[in-house]
Amino acid sequence: MLENLSGRLQQVIKTLRGQARLTEDNISDAMREVRMALLEADVALPVVKDFIAQVKERAQGREVLQSLSPGQAVIQVVHEELTRLMGEQNSELNLAAVPPAIVLMAGLQGSGKTTTSAKLARLLKGQKKKVLLASADVYRPAAIEQLKTLAASLEVDCFDSNATQKPLDIAAATLDYARRHYYDVVIFDTAGRLGIDEAMMAEISKLHTLLKPIETLFVVDAMQGQDAVNTARAFGETLPLTGVVLTKLDGDARGGAALSVRHITGKPIKFIGVSEKVDGLEPFHPERMASRVLGMGDVLSLIEQAQKNVDLDEAKRFADKVKSGKSFDLDDFKAQMQQMRNMGGMAALMDKMPAQVAGMAGQMGGEQGDKAMRRLEGIINSMTPSERRKPEIIKATRKRRIAAGAGVQVQEVNRLLNQFEEAQKMMKMISKGGMAKMMRAMQG
Ligand code: GDP
Repeated sequence: MLENLSGRLQQVIKTLRGQARLTEDNISDAMREVRMALLEADVALPVVKDFIAQVKERAQGREVLQSLSPGQAVIQVVHEELTRLMGEQNSELNLAAVPPAIVLMAGLQGSGKTTTSAKLARLLKGQKKKVLLASADVYRPAAIEQLKTLAASLEVDCFDSNATQKPLDIAAATLDYARRHYYDVVIFDTAGRLGIDEAMMAEISKLHTLLKPIETLFVVDAMQGQDAVNTARAFGETLPLTGVVLTKLDGDARGGAALSVRHITGKPIKFIGVSEKVDGLEPFHPERMASRVLGMGDVLSLIEQAQKNVDLDEAKRFADKVKSGKSFDLDDFKAQMQQMRNMGGMAALMDKMPAQVAGMAGQMGGEQGDKAMRRLEGIINSMTPSERRKPEIIKATRKRRIAAGAGVQVQEVNRLLNQFEEAQKMMKMISKGGMAKMMRAMQG
């Protein structure tokens, strides 16, 4: 996510950190680099100009020049201004309406509107809301079916509309049904067009009047860069938008849309789409995104993710085991890998780690790391319980049997056993001398 932008900005940061003194010249140089990075990220020019002017003014001000580490102070200013650019704080979904609260979803074809509707339903269901999905997309073949299928897989109700009905009739019937069945929230998906046109705006305006949504979310594909931002602005000029959902951020290396939407449309980004899967929707936190872009990681999101997805009993069992100094076996090794997968896998985790940590773990990072982890699990699955508890009994014959069972080469079994031994050593170190000792050992 936003790798290109992030890479360039981190380069600037490195240079700034290395400066013993900051002068007008080296601030100017750094700002030129930042400006280039933003333009290459497809951030709109007026946004870039404002941003640079702000940062420059503050960087030449007293708060920076008189600080003990001026380089660090400039980085802080860049972080704060990036955060401000993206809207300062998380803007939550507003559902404070007489139930049902209506969320109207709009967006161009292919923007990810239908997928996002389902993702949002999943999120709200997790918050114990009674959610009804409905679709008035009577133009795109199979759009309604797509939503119904997604709803069924999430065990969320979906209003039974079909492509022969008129969008306004579907809206009226959905509203009536939702009231009679006491739904808390209705997520209403609408038809997208190829571009914003009169027909689309006329239809959605009528739906808006009838449904009186408390939230009108415009879904845009981040990979469209400035085009995405311009479409959102055009839409917002006709209809009172309450927020934007930026999808496909996982595929967006540049980041122009993420950085300009707020400034250009005046509307907050409420959510970001970070994968094709139904759990790939996250509330948008400008401050955390700024940290991610600057390579400082997004530890807060990481912790929240852990709190939601990690099996706490398992985590506690493991912690107790480590503390008590009991031996760490292959079953523990496998359980740890599963926990990691529950948190979205290596790729998702690495994305939120500070750059230094991600770099350290780089060899096993990303999707490759996920694949490798699945192979390791496969090998452990081919072992007997006693082999898992006492890996030292695994000699040549057993290795051959395990490799055949898992469909891998014997070398891979050897590699796994070596990795396990390393992990075991680290665990011993933690239980003996605590985290500090381990960190020292790692710094070697
Ligand atoms: P709609 O025409 O606006 O309803 O678009 P869809 O919901 O059908 O999505 C279009 C395509 O984008 C589908 O293949 C989705 O799986 C994909 N998609 C949607 N959101 C995301 C996202 O956040 N990340 C990724 N990688 N793909 C997404």
